[in-house]
Amino acid sequence: MSEPTILLIEDEAQIRRLVRAALENEDHRVLESGTLKAGLAQLHADAVQLLILDLGLPDGDGIAFIRELRTQFALPVLVLSARSAEGEKIRALDAGADDYLTKPFSTGELLARVRAQLRRAPQEGATAETYCHFGDIKVDLAQRCVTRKNEAVRLTPIEYRLLCAMLAEPGKVLTYRHLLSAVWGKAFVESNHYLRIYVSHLRQKLEDDPAQPKYFLTETGVGYRFQG
Ligand code: CA
Repeated sequence: MSEPTILLIEDEAQIRRLVRAALENEDHRVLESGTLKAGLAQLHADAVQLLILDLGLPDGDGIAFIRELRTQFALPVLVLSARSAEGEKIRALDAGADDYLTKPFSTGELLARVRAQLRRAPQEGATAETYCHFGDIKVDLAQRCVTRKNEAVRLTPIEYRLLCAMLAEPGKVLTYRHLLSAVWGKAFVESNHYLRIYVSHLRQKLEDDPAQPKYFLTETGVGYRFQG
C-alpha cells in the first residue's frame, strides 16, 4: 500500500506546520486546508485515509461538519481542539468523530493516535473477521466463546455483549451513551454505573493486571476505548 494520505483542517498555520512535519516524518502524505469549505473540496478530490479536524474554524463549527461528513464519508476523524471540556468531547464523538486530542498535545501522542486510527481504516478486500486476538485472549465471534491461553473464560451475556461492542471499534473512543445503548438498550443511556461495573468485570477476567489495563482503557469523563 502507498503511504496513507491525511487531510488536516486547521486554521492556525503554526499548528499545521507542526502536525505536517510530524506526519511527514512518518512517511504520511499530508494535505492541508484552513477552512471547512476547502477541506470538503479536498475530501471529494482526493482519496483521504484520515481526517484531522480542528473544531473552531473561520467558516463554521467542526462538530456540525462531522455530522454532515458522516452522511457521505466513513473515514476516521481525529479531532484536534483547544476545547478541553468533557461535554465538547462527547458532542464531537457522538457526532461521529473517532478520537479526540486536546491542545496542547505532544507529537508523540498525536502519532500514536494517528497509527491507531489508520489501523482501523477498512482495508480493501478485507473479509468479515470471525476471530479477534489481543494479548493471550482469543474471541471466536462465530462460536461466541472466549479463551485465555487456550483456557475457556466464562463471560455473562452482558459481559460478552459489552466485549463485542468494544471489539467492534478498536481504537475508537466509545461514549458512555453509545455503549449503554449498544449493550443494555436506549432506556439505559444514563446508567453510567452499570458500565463501570461491567468494564471492571472484563478487566478482571481479561487483563493481566486489572488495575493497569492495557486493552480496556478509561477515557475520563467521556467513556472507554478498546486498544487491541
Ligand atoms: Ca481553530
